[in-house]
Amino acid sequence: MVNNRRMSRVVIIATGGTIATSTGDDGVARPTRTGSDLIAGLETDDLDVVDLLSVDSSELTPADWDAIGSAAASAIESGADGVVIAHGTDTMEETALWLALTYGGDEPVVLTGAMRSADAPDPDGPRNLRDAVALAANPAVRGKGVLVSFGGRVLQPLGMHKSASRDLHGFTGTELSAASAERVFLGPLSAAVAPRVDIVAAYAGSDAVALDAFVAAGARGVVLEAVGAGNAGAAVVDGVRRHCRDGVVVALSTRVPGGHVRASYGPGRALVDAGAVVVPRLRPSQARVLLMATLAAGASVGDAFEKWG
Ligand code: ASP
Repeated sequence: MVNNRRMSRVVIIATGGTIATSTGDDGVARPTRTGSDLIAGLETDDLDVVDLLSVDSSELTPADWDAIGSAAASAIESGADGVVIAHGTDTMEETALWLALTYGGDEPVVLTGAMRSADAPDPDGPRNLRDAVALAANPAVRGKGVLVSFGGRVLQPLGMHKSASRDLHGFTGTELSAASAERVFLGPLSAAVAPRVDIVAAYAGSDAVALDAFVAAGARGVVLEAVGAGNAGAAVVDGVRRHCRDGVVVALSTRVPGGHVRASYGPGRALVDAGAVVVPRLRPSQARVLLMATLAAGASVGDAFEKWG
């Protein structure tokens, strides 16, 4: 009997990261492995590989998000049923959210990586890659957009963040379920047209020097990594007031992992009265990505942060 069932074709886009590193004589891990090296042990022949980048993910820029998004789109245009992006974990939360906000297709786009170098005695990369390929080929996740497959879990990009540097789970985030499959698509945006958005940390004794410098450098948005439930000292509040008056968007996040911003104390209230937009839950790294995309789309910042922040 002839089996007419076509196997799912998955394209793996390699970008570097620990999943592709080996350790040099100096004890330092750097990406050396190609996409073909990564798939060498996978028992499936319906895979294609694109060697797009070979960098530590701390070196990626918004222009690289565009390059990764375009590579995924071309793979899908040429017939892939799903795409896997092998990526460093340091900034996976940023790339994953940017792609989720800008990719509207049905074919799954799955990011994965590793906590242990590819040349470790017991690397986690091969298993993560196998899981990601299986997910990308799984018709049950068609329509769910961008996902992260890591350490045996499937996470939604929105809200995920790296929370460990050794634990093989790597990330904190919301696991995928039918109920939590909300997409966060804003439009087919290019990071090239997104304005500069920076992150400013508040701390005991902080002033407005960093805020002023970022705005002087062209920032149209700033994420304030405030303390506690969204508080900062008077000098920062004054700076926020000045810049909001001039049309800069200030998004109010917190340095507390898992913290919720509520503006429930005097300084937080003063920041909101000065014009800052509350970021209820997202970590500053993802608040920045959401703000960049919202500004690039010309969408309402208040609505976007109320819905997804
Ligand atoms: N520094 C590495 C990277 O982000 C860490 C990793 O991949 O786990 O590229």
